[in-house]
Amino acid sequence: MKYIPTIGLEVHAELKTRTKMFCDSANDPEETRPNVNVCPVCMAHPGTLPVINREAVRHIVRIGTAIRGRIADFTEFDRKSYFYPDIPKGFQISQYEHPLVTGGELVGVAITRVHLEEDTARSSHAGGKSLVDFNRAGIPLMELVTEPVLHDAETAGRFARELQLLLRTLGAGEANLEKGEMRIEANVSVSAKEGEFGLNQSEGLIGRTGQRPVLGTKVEVKNINSFRSVERAIAFEVKRQSALLEKGGKVVQETRGWDEAKQETFHQRFKEGSADYRYFPEPDLPKLFLSEIPEFSPEALRASLPELPWERRARYEALGIRKEYADVLVQPENAFLMALIEGVAKRASNNDKTLIGLAANYIVSDVAGLMQDSSVESKFSYTSADDLYQAFFNLMRMVEEEKVSSRGAKDVLAAMYRSGGDPETIAKGKGLLQVHDASALQEAVSGVLKEEAKAVAEYRAGKEAALQYLIGKSMKATKGAGNPGILKELIVKELGK
Ligand code: ADP
Ligand code: MG
Repeated sequence: MKYIPTIGLEVHAELKTRTKMFCDSANDPEETRPNVNVCPVCMAHPGTLPVINREAVRHIVRIGTAIRGRIADFTEFDRKSYFYPDIPKGFQISQYEHPLVTGGELVGVAITRVHLEEDTARSSHAGGKSLVDFNRAGIPLMELVTEPVLHDAETAGRFARELQLLLRTLGAGEANLEKGEMRIEANVSVSAKEGEFGLNQSEGLIGRTGQRPVLGTKVEVKNINSFRSVERAIAFEVKRQSALLEKGGKVVQETRGWDEAKQETFHQRFKEGSADYRYFPEPDLPKLFLSEIPEFSPEALRASLPELPWERRARYEALGIRKEYADVLVQPENAFLMALIEGVAKRASNNDKTLIGLAANYIVSDVAGLMQDSSVESKFSYTSADDLYQAFFNLMRMVEEEKVSSRGAKDVLAAMYRSGGDPETIAKGKGLLQVHDASALQEAVSGVLKEEAKAVAEYRAGKEAALQYLIGKSMKATKGAGNPGILKELIVKELGK
């Protein structure tokens, strides 16, 4: 029998700021020497005082605005008791009762809250020694919590990817999972058997009689360091818990780790309740009344947002760009490709969908492919970005008007990549310009028909293959510049069909 899974995610992400959360030590994730970006505050020396980093607060409230959450008017920080050497002061500064953001939604997944806290130092254990590197201690950390409204691993993975994309688009963080810049914890439970309950798109799990199921006991899975592992860890837990219930067993609330090598979860510890954290307001920091800070007014925040990934995706699709291509073009790491499609869209008259769709095709498959070639020193060397966009747009027009074949366009593009230049000139130089002018082609066709008496006879005898042969010969005679459609017409006409 099958059980219905329920998943809620807790995501931590390091924010991109000049300095740390509560002191002016540098926030530099690229620093490789240990304990360089440190000061008495982030080393937890007694008697030091923290100061709130405005840039970090700004990142969180912009994220909150993007997901259409409620930005707190009143907000404060809290001390959360903590007893590990990676925060030697004995507590982590976090937020509890008054998070910066409450509610909101991302790809249809309801968000509970988004708050700000400080990262821990990085500890490592080897050769009987434990080492602590404080470069990471006190780096601003976002914590985002979703409602338990996810019901399958793929949707959870999609949510996590979209969140990473949002953070990158907002410039809030790189959110690289492999580097630990983004950490995903999956809370997983299974409940009511399928059949008794169904999934309703807008309302989630709902029974035949309208009642909601009581959610099962949740297990928290940590140490997941890729999106694929998020999906696999969830799938593993769903299977494990279902099998346990099927055998008449019980799921116990615990924290489990994800073992990447074994592709399974394992017990780490039984979970503390929030009472164990002894939260209380941080007395060394001021309370914040965000509505009194002009920079953080809802209007100012909304105005500060760039086009969001889902907005851009929708605009691209409306412009005739295929969904898979739009997905590639919205990624900030593909900024060059994005600028290129914007350059085409700007020039396309009446948002010519065919042309823009065609350009997206060439950009995602051909331009992206060419960019991989690092042997080329100056890629697309044009005097200005606008010159490149215009040249690329012109090439797309040539394809659309069949002045160059799609095969030919790829060659022209490769030449533009290596040494710049005007596409029409390049095409002419390479003999790739297709000639549409019938009179110019007529001569070549007449010559071929005179020479190929045998094929002409075969064609007259009704052999279709002979026509293809004659078209091929004529193409050759025009050095590939003849438009095959027109050549065919000329041949058929001359032979009196
Ligand atoms: P805790 O107090 O144990 O941290 P929370 O209520 O704060 O629990 O929820 C933590 C996370 O667990 C949230 O992402 C939430 O959506 C998720 N969650 C809560 N209950 C369940 C459940 N029964 N099954 C799956 N996820 C759950
Ligand atoms: Mg919690």
